[in-house]
Amino acid sequence: PTVKFFCLNELVREIVELSEQRAKYANVIIETSLADTIAQVQASPSEMQQVFLNLVNNAIDAMDPGGGNLDIMTRLDGDDVAISFADTGCGIPEANLSRIFDPFFTTKPVGQGTGLGLSIIYGIINRMDGTIAVQSTVDVGTTFTIRLPAVKEAE
Ligand code: ADP
Ligand code: MG
Repeated sequence: PTVKFFCLNELVREIVELSEQRAKYANVIIETSLADTIAQVQASPSEMQQVFLNLVNNAIDAMDPGGGNLDIMTRLDGDDVAISFADTGCGIPEANLSRIFDPFFTTKPVGQGTGLGLSIIYGIINRMDGTIAVQSTVDVGTTFTIRLPAVKEAE
C-alpha cells in the first residue's frame, strides 16, 4: 500500500460523508470533534479508510435496532495522534473482550459477520507502529481508540 503523510481529520470528514446514508437509515447520529491543529500521520490512506469504515460499521451494527450516537474524536496525545470512535451500542461482554481481535471471532448471525474486520484492523495498525485499544460497558457502549505516531513538522 502507498504510504503518505496526511491529516486524519480529512479522512474522518470523508468517512462521515461515506457513512451518512447508512447512519441515517439506522437512526445513528454521527458527531465529530476534531482537534484544531493535528499533526500528520504516515500511513496508507486507503488502509486507514478501510480501518475507519470497519469501525463505523461495527458501531452502527452495535446500535441496531434503535440507533444511537457515534462520536468520532481526534486529538494530539503527547507524541501520538489519537482517534476515538465512541458508540452508544450494546457493548462487549467482558468474556469477549480478549477475543474480538481474533480472526473469525464474530457474534453476528451467519452470513452477516465474517469476524475478520477487527483482526485486519489490528494488523494494519500494528504495521504502522500504532496501537488500538477498546473500552466497553455492556448496554452502555464501546470506545475504540487508535494511536499513531505523529509526524513532526520538519518533514
Ligand atoms: P464482524 O463485524 O464481522 O463480526 P469484527 O472483527 O469487525 O467482525 O468484530 C468482531 C466482533 O466484535 C463483533 O462480532 C462484535 O461481537 C464485536 N464488536 C466489534 N465492534 C463492536 C462495537 N462497536 N460494539 C459492540 N461489539 C462490537
Ligand atoms: Mg466488522
